[in-house]
Amino acid sequence: MTHTYHPLGFTGSRIAQGYWRLAEWGMSDQELLSFIEQSLEAGITTVDHADIYGDYQCETLFGRALALKPSLRDKLQIISKCGILLPSQQRPEISSHRYDQSTGHIIQSVDQSLKNLNVDSLDMLLIHRPSPLMDPDHVSEAFEHLYTVGKVKHFGVSNFSAQQFDLLQSRIDMPLLVNQVELSPLELKHFKDGTLEHAQQHAVTPMAWSPFAGGDLFKLEGINPTLYQAMSDVAEAHQASFDQVALAWLMRHPAGIAPVLGSGKIERVLAAQQALTMTLSDHEWFAIWVASQGHPVP
Ligand code: NAP
Repeated sequence: MTHTYHPLGFTGSRIAQGYWRLAEWGMSDQELLSFIEQSLEAGITTVDHADIYGDYQCETLFGRALALKPSLRDKLQIISKCGILLPSQQRPEISSHRYDQSTGHIIQSVDQSLKNLNVDSLDMLLIHRPSPLMDPDHVSEAFEHLYTVGKVKHFGVSNFSAQQFDLLQSRIDMPLLVNQVELSPLELKHFKDGTLEHAQQHAVTPMAWSPFAGGDLFKLEGINPTLYQAMSDVAEAHQASFDQVALAWLMRHPAGIAPVLGSGKIERVLAAQQALTMTLSDHEWFAIWVASQGHPVP
């Protein structure tokens, strides 16, 4: 198999906007359009979706807003995901919550995402979670097809271990460019299991989902007072907010972590973008690391 792909790979904004919670935001199409435009003006050009978000509704909501101003499409890098099935009134044919990463399902899911989003192509498609039944050759066949017909420009994965990533990559000519995993000052697992080292070694962008632990970061005083104090100290030193400290802490890692925001409040999105101008010292970075771990470095 021979393929040409963009030699620079996927180029997105360092901070992406996630739309998992979009259906909860209660925005009109016009309000969502304004949210997208303001995020774009602030430099957040990458948007993160999945077929299943909001009970299969979020892509449609986004597509309706985009249809009000189609010229925005070329300013965005649109990521979507597939591979999980959820029982839903929107999908009566789905009998149980499970995974499907067959060639047919991947292609069908992308076709539906394109229709829902009102676009001709995705900039990036991720396999949402590794399935025990994933046959890498079947995924490869789907990716080859979607690339060849111009429906997907780049590919990656989400929640994959280094080994799962390597297995899939071994059957695909195009490089997998992203592994989207949960990373935050409250979720250190992937800092320790080789995921980030693997990403660095293979020039894969680790995208951080739930960078504020789904909002738990703002309840830290009750959850982990030591981490709360460490975060507060860094926030005070930089005259920054907790969310900015968390993002700066993630982006300080040499793997080049790209956080995916989840807020539906534009003022929070714009404030978060200011984290790009902050650099934490090693002392500050380790103060948060140690406080989160609950014990000193060895
Ligand atoms: P998150 O940023 O960790 O959590 C978002 C939650 O935090 C929202 O409820 C938000 O409420 C709240 N929040 C944000 N800033 C706040 C602030 N300054 N003060 C108080 N509350 C604040 O991110 P997430 O939504 O869990 O995930 C982000 C994105 O990652 C998703 O949209 C999705 O695209 C992606 N994701 C991917 C996977 C995967 O498996 N690949 C899994 C989960 C998520 P408000 O809206 O009220 O601000």
